Amino acid sequence: MKLSDDTYYSKEANKAFFSVSQYKDFCKCEAMAMAKIRGDFEQKQTKAMLIGTLVDWWFEGTLDKLRGESPNIFYCRNGALRAEFRKADEIIKRVQRDGRFMQYMGGEKQKILTFEMFGAPWKMKMDSFVEDICITDLKVVQNFKSLAFWRYDIQGAVYVEGADACGYGYLPFYLAAVTKEAVPNFDIFQVDRPTLDTALREVEGNMPRFIAVKAGLEEPRYCGVCDYCKSVKKARIRNYSELLEG
Ligand SMILES: [Zn+2]
Repeated sequence: MKLSDDTYYSKEANKAFFSVSQYKDFCKCEAMAMAKIRGDFEQKQTKAMLIGTLVDWWFEGTLDKLRGESPNIFYCRNGALRAEFRKADEIIKRVQRDGRFMQYMGGEKQKILTFEMFGAPWKMKMDSFVEDICITDLKVVQNFKSLAFWRYDIQGAVYVEGADACGYGYLPFYLAAVTKEAVPNFDIFQVDRPTLDTALREVEGNMPRFIAVKAGLEEPRYCGVCDYCKSVKKARIRNYSELLEG
């Protein structure tokens, strides 16, 4: 299957390929990951996530087009611009004034690669790719501390390995991070080689199980606490005291 901008996020593509987000879904909850692949479950977009999406769209160069096509994303019913958009606009204006940030985000946008890794086909889409120089991914986060929480070392490990598998060589991986704080903070973080290597070994270790579950050879495990598990659970009789512990 050859992927384009139109088919990259399609059901067929998610069935055929692993991606970093699908891999992370499997780590969180195998049942939820499988439900997403079947098309039975979709993660709801929160208002906080919308700010990041808007900034992504601006860097892709599609923000104005989408603003015309889907005005309800951008405007409240009374016609005022949504608060999330005003925040996104503030973030865009701020990083635009920074030469280094714009330089790292100035590569080829949304470049798609597909490759084989650890016995499975993978797909990836890079925010900014500069041939022979580096791969950069844009992150709009609550604060810098949350960068580590989201495990972007896994994304870096897969992207660097994928670009190498496609003949681009082993490139450095950067996160162009900007925060949603009252006054946005921003910097370029390099994820170093030892960190990428450790993350890649972790992916390698988990893949045999995830490949078997995705192929239907093993039953998916239910985490019991995610939104998907809650949506399909049955009520249990529980002891009230467990709520008082910890
Ligand atoms: Zn779950």
